[in-house]
Amino acid sequence: MHNEVEKILISQEEIEKRVQELGQQITQDYPEDTELVMVCILRGAVVFMADLARQIQRQVTFDFMDVSSYGMGTTSSGVVRILKDLEENIADRHVLIVEDIIDTGLTLKYVVEVLNTRRPASIRVVTLLDKPERRVTKEFKAQYNGFEIPDQFVVGYGLDYAQKFRNLPYIGVLKPSAYS
Ligand code: IMP
Repeated sequence: MHNEVEKILISQEEIEKRVQELGQQITQDYPEDTELVMVCILRGAVVFMADLARQIQRQVTFDFMDVSSYGMGTTSSGVVRILKDLEENIADRHVLIVEDIIDTGLTLKYVVEVLNTRRPASIRVVTLLDKPERRVTKEFKAQYNGFEIPDQFVVGYGLDYAQKFRNLPYIGVLKPSAYS
């Protein structure tokens, strides 16, 4: 597995440190009596959510949503289908959406729009990675952002290529041979 990685972009230690910082920042931003509904966007955000939740010193509940974008080739079209919806009612609750990476921004823009119609008390987004160069929608911005990365396809720490490499403990770029 590791020998298919060309370069480590963000090390395990760097991720650990940044997740700790994000947890502290989120803890400070919400009053002590806040109950947060952490919404994990499947499947890439699973690893990040598990680590981040343990750095947040507030009551949290977990919920999961699976969405798929009707893409044309490698670019997403902005039309998103909900494959698995939330189990919980989020009306009047504080929602923290947890995402692995924001690329075009279209998936999250849609998810936030849909969840906003359910009248939550608040919605914020935390993403581990952001590729700002790829953004096609100006209307969308995450409140918490782990790392900005260049426009490169990355794997590890939850992110996959063809469902593989999610268990790498770092964020890396694959060798061209891994794609063939
Ligand atoms: P978008 O922001 O709507 O374009 O889509 C974001 C989604 O595309 C993420 O949740 C990932 O599932 C996927 N994605 C985008 N860039 C990468 C990458 O570099 N590696 C793995 N998945 C990616």
